[in-house]
Amino acid sequence: RAKAEGRGRFKYFSEELTRGARERIALEARLRRAIAQNELRVHYQPQVEIKSGRITGAEALVRWQHPEEGLIPPVRFIPVAEETGLIDAIGTWVLRETCRQGKAWLDAGMAPVTLAVNVSPYQIRHGDIAAMTAKILAETGYPAEWLELELTESALMEREGEAVEILQRIRALGVRLALDDFGTGYSSLAYLKRFPLDVLKIDKSFVDDIPHLRDDMEIAATIVAMGHTLRFKVLAEGVETEEQLAFLVSQGCDYYQGYLKSRPVPAEDFLKWLVPLSSR
Ligand code: C2E
Ligand code: MG
Ligand code: MG
Ligand code: MG
Repeated sequence: RAKAEGRGRFKYFSEELTRGARERIALEARLRRAIAQNELRVHYQPQVEIKSGRITGAEALVRWQHPEEGLIPPVRFIPVAEETGLIDAIGTWVLRETCRQGKAWLDAGMAPVTLAVNVSPYQIRHGDIAAMTAKILAETGYPAEWLELELTESALMEREGEAVEILQRIRALGVRLALDDFGTGYSSLAYLKRFPLDVLKIDKSFVDDIPHLRDDMEIAATIVAMGHTLRFKVLAEGVETEEQLAFLVSQGCDYYQGYLKSRPVPAEDFLKWLVPLSSR
């Protein structure tokens, strides 16, 4: 009986695996088509400078505008894109589209804001991010100083030997660098202090339970202090409440991003926060 059960279970798992693999392949094909048919969109989430209360930047976040299924969030396709390498094409597209949009806003007379674009571990592993970025900046005419690339600790640690060099090559273009989801990876302080970064982004998971969990509050406070010691700016992600913001203000955090200000919005809606240069 045990044997039969075991076999049954094996069969069940193998069917599951096959279905999983089949779904992945189908999603990959659909995603390829989506890229070709221009179904990807970039939404922009404001980043607020705490001391002035001004929106000084935005994070570019990809979505898939599916003709029947509506807006599909990145958690549903980025992992497969990462596995299959399609993230390369998606990442390049997002960077180009964001620079194109940023240039259009500048040409319309808006004061510049920093546009932050996510770079995936796959792109660090397989591509030359600095060369790709240089090419897109040249193509679009968007100024390097208003672009920020967000990288994760794990992507950098995978390439420990070359990480500093990769960062330096990007920095040499005049592009800023942010370390995303900080605190969830495993970079040691020894590495962190050698990374030429501009911004540390405190992961949302440390912000969620402020002001209820002492440990998370202490971690957030420590990241702010440590970031400042290393001469980085510190941005808190996922800020949803006034209480969370008040705590971050009390700790001297520099920027925040979160639903408290706004969810990510389409470019047309982000325009309402841009200020014409002439009115400043
Ligand atoms: P991330 O880079 O850490 O981006 C922040 C995520 O937190 C975004 O989710 C944003 O909508 C969400 N968020 C911001 N504030 C709040 C808040 O107050 N509450 C809650 N509940 N969520 C908040 P989103 O847009 O779904 O993106 C998820 C992840 O997908 C991103 O995390 C990033 O890792 C990845 N991703 C998105 N766009 C791209 C892209 O163009 N390239 C790559 N490689 N990854 C991307
Ligand atoms: Mg990010
Ligand atoms: Mg993040
Ligand atoms: Mg995150």
